[in-house]
Amino acid sequence: MIIVGNPKDSAADLAVAIANTWDTFQQPYERLATLDDLRRFLERVGRPEAARVARKRDLIEIRQLRARLRHVFVAQDVGEAARLLNEIAEEAAAVPHLEHIDGTWKVRFGPSEPVAAHLGATAAAGLIDIVQAHGLTRFGTCSGPPCTGVFVDATKNRSKRYCCHWCADREAQRRHRARST
Ligand SMILES: [Zn+2]
Repeated sequence: MIIVGNPKDSAADLAVAIANTWDTFQQPYERLATLDDLRRFLERVGRPEAARVARKRDLIEIRQLRARLRHVFVAQDVGEAARLLNEIAEEAAAVPHLEHIDGTWKVRFGPSEPVAAHLGATAAAGLIDIVQAHGLTRFGTCSGPPCTGVFVDATKNRSKRYCCHWCADREAQRRHRARST
């Protein structure tokens, strides 16, 4: 499981990180198999307070949230993505509020607990912004099989094809080998 971007401060990067805890690059695909896995994940995405309070029930709810987020990345049209994101935001009771963190004011989406609601509220808010500004044009899935990692394409010319630089490098090497044989 590779975490890219800055999921601590970017709600969209957090959404991507959650979605990519289902990692088809190698078995086992499930990277949130245990409560310890979930706690480690929460630490890595800058949610140490959530890591401390996470319970088994959160593990199940976050896997469900993940499935819904992955669905957003492959939505057929903007209407479908909007419906999915609105549902997640509504169920999580997503409310924006300002928090003074590390000397600056940041928008955080509540509630802070339960953990799945916090992640759902934040992830939905991040993706809602992107859909509003760009429709579905920024959402993609990795072109480096067997990886099916999702990504948000922030490049100017929408040229992103891989979820991370490891997948991009692997595919570049594969193409190079194919040319030289
Ligand atoms: Zn990939």
